[in-house]
Amino acid sequence: MIRFDDVHKTYKSGVDALRGVSFEIEDGEFVFIIGRSGSGKSTLMKCITCEELPSEGTVSIDDFDISHMSRALVPILRRQIGMIYQDFRLIESKTVAENVSFAGEIIGLPKKSLAQTVQLVLNVVGLKDKADAYPQELSGGEQQRVAIARAMVNNPKIIVADEPTGNLDPETSENIMALLLDINRGGSTVIVCTHD
Ligand code: ADP
Ligand code: MG
Repeated sequence: MIRFDDVHKTYKSGVDALRGVSFEIEDGEFVFIIGRSGSGKSTLMKCITCEELPSEGTVSIDDFDISHMSRALVPILRRQIGMIYQDFRLIESKTVAENVSFAGEIIGLPKKSLAQTVQLVLNVVGLKDKADAYPQELSGGEQQRVAIARAMVNNPKIIVADEPTGNLDPETSENIMALLLDINRGGSTVIVCTHD
């Protein structure tokens, strides 16, 4: 369970991005966070991934307060979270398979099983045939599917997707949302934020 308790976030510039946000997300839920641009969606997501710390209040995952934990524990938290962004954030110099594999290498998954997992997740997102292509050789929708495969490779408990369809046409967006729904049915909690 993800829990926000009266979370405030004031940036150094003085902007109040979050003012007293409280909610709970149960394991296995699929949640949309909807609000206009500048309403604090990305800030909220960053409080879950520990990219930002709340100025006040607490964020906890499974009753563990991640907003006051040692920074040394952040990498361990991130292993349980798959992140997907509007601008895909792939490594241009790596192939599709290498991009996906890299996410597993960082957290030290054994090479042999990792190679199998990479094949499996590329299959799930329908990009088996593009394993050796480079990101710039793919459409936006294909790049986002690589990003989803990368987020899945560690079998995370939680997937956070910040405007995942923001750069995609409506039909491609529907495919991406269907894929996120599939992942959710597989047991991961999925949190999607969007202005749309
Ligand atoms: P959204 O994702 O809904 O568009 P954000 O969380 O990115 O909203 O931003 C919420 C508010 O916080 C905005 O006013 C934005 O300008 C401000 N903001 C976001 N990130 C920073 C930052 N690193 N430093 C200062 N202000 C920020
Ligand atoms: Mg945003």
